Amino acid sequence: MKLTQSRQLYKEAMRYFPGGVNSPVRAFGSVGGSPLFIKKGAGSIITDEDDNRYVDYVMSWGALILGHAIPEVIKAVETAVRSGSSFGAPTKNETELAKVITSAIPSIQKLRFVSSGTEATMSAIRVSRGFTGRDKIVKFDGCYHGHCDSLLVKAGSGAATQGIPGSAGVTQSLSRDTLVCPYNDIEYFRKLILKYGREIACVIIEPIAANIGVVQPEETFLQEIRALTARHGIVLIFDEVITGFRFHFGGVQTLQGIKPDLTCLGKIIGGGLPIGVYGGRKDIMHCVAPEGNVYQAGTLSGNPVAVAAGLAMLNVLKKKDYTVIDAMADQLCEGLTRILFDQKQEFTINRCGSLFTVFFTSEQVTDFNTAKTADTGKYARYFWSMLDRGINLPPSQFEAQFLSFSHTTRDIQLTLNAAAGK
Ligand code: PMP
Repeated sequence: MKLTQSRQLYKEAMRYFPGGVNSPVRAFGSVGGSPLFIKKGAGSIITDEDDNRYVDYVMSWGALILGHAIPEVIKAVETAVRSGSSFGAPTKNETELAKVITSAIPSIQKLRFVSSGTEATMSAIRVSRGFTGRDKIVKFDGCYHGHCDSLLVKAGSGAATQGIPGSAGVTQSLSRDTLVCPYNDIEYFRKLILKYGREIACVIIEPIAANIGVVQPEETFLQEIRALTARHGIVLIFDEVITGFRFHFGGVQTLQGIKPDLTCLGKIIGGGLPIGVYGGRKDIMHCVAPEGNVYQAGTLSGNPVAVAAGLAMLNVLKKKDYTVIDAMADQLCEGLTRILFDQKQEFTINRCGSLFTVFFTSEQVTDFNTAKTADTGKYARYFWSMLDRGINLPPSQFEAQFLSFSHTTRDIQLTLNAAAGK
C-alpha cells in the first residue's frame, strides 16, 4: 500500500495543528504510523489521497448510517446552501426536523438544536443544574460524552468520591463535582445515590456504551437507574449521540421502554453535518433561555444546511429495514469469530445491531476495566493488517465499528478475507 501523499500531507499538517489533526483519535496515536488523508467517500468506500480504496467501518464515527455521499443528502444540502448558509434567525425546517425527532423519541417534548454532541451534553448538564439547584453529576467510567470539562473525568483508583481530572486544564473543583461509577455496577450506583442523592443534579449515561468499545447494559441496569434517579429527584440524561436512530428509527429508550428526563442526540440526525440536540421534559426545558434563566446560545445553532441534511437523511432512513444491517453485522461478526478462533487469538466480540467491537481479550467485556484487559498492541497489528488489505477500522481498540446501509455482502466478504490474511 502506497501512502506517499498521506505522509507528505501529514508532515505539512503537523506544522499547523497539534499532532497534525483537528481531533486526537485521527492521529493514529494508539495504532502507530501516520494517518490517512481522505479524498472522498461514496457508499461504503473511502478513497485516500494516494488513491487507495477502503471499505469504511468508521463512517464518520457513526454519523453516516446510510453511507458516504448519499444523493438525497447531497441534493438537500445543495438546495439549502443556494438559499443562504446561515441567517442567525429561525427557519421553517428547524421545526420540521423537530417534528421528526419528537415523534420518533416522544420523551423529547421540547428541544434545542446545537452544533455538536459536546454542546448537547454540556448544555443538558447546565440545564439539569439550573433545574435542580444541585451541583454534582454522575457519569460512568469509560463513557464519553464529548470534551466538556465536567465530563472529562474518570474515577481515580476506585474512589468515586474524588474525581481525578482526565485532562489537564480541568480544575480540581470541577472534577470534584463529577462522580464516576463503573458501567453495569448497580450496587455501586445505588451506594453513590444513597450517599450523595440530594447533591446530584443529573446522571448521564450512554444507554448502550460505544466509547468503551461496544458494551451493553445488563438486563435491568437502565431500569434500576431510572427508578433510583426518579426517587431522588435526579435528572436522568440519556446520551444517544451514537445510539439515536442507530438500532431503529428512534432511540435505545424507545426500544427498551425507558423514559429519561433529557436526551442528547447528534451524528445521524445531521446527515454528516455539524449538529447536536438536547431536549426532554417540558418543565426542565422551560428553564432554557429565553423562557428560563439557564443561558445557552449559538450563532450556527439549527444551521439551515445541517438541518436540511438531517431531514433528508432521516426521510431516507425512515423507510429502511434495520434488520438488514443487523443481519449483515451478524454475518460479519460470525465470520470474524470463526477466523480469529482458527488463528487461536484471544478475543471477544461485542455486537449490538450494526455496532460492534473486536476486543483482543479472552475476558467478557462488561465495563471499562474488563475492556482494558484487551491487548492494544494486538489491536494495532490487526488494524494495520486490515488497512493493508483495504479495510478501514477505527484507529483505537476502545471504539465501535459502524456498519451502514451502503455496505454490501461483497464488502463483508472482502473484510473476512482480509481478517483471514488473504
Ligand atoms: N456523546 C457520545 C456518546 C459520543 O460518542 C460523542 C462523540 N463521539 C459525543 C457525545 C460528542 O460529540 P461531538 O464529537 O459531536 O462533540
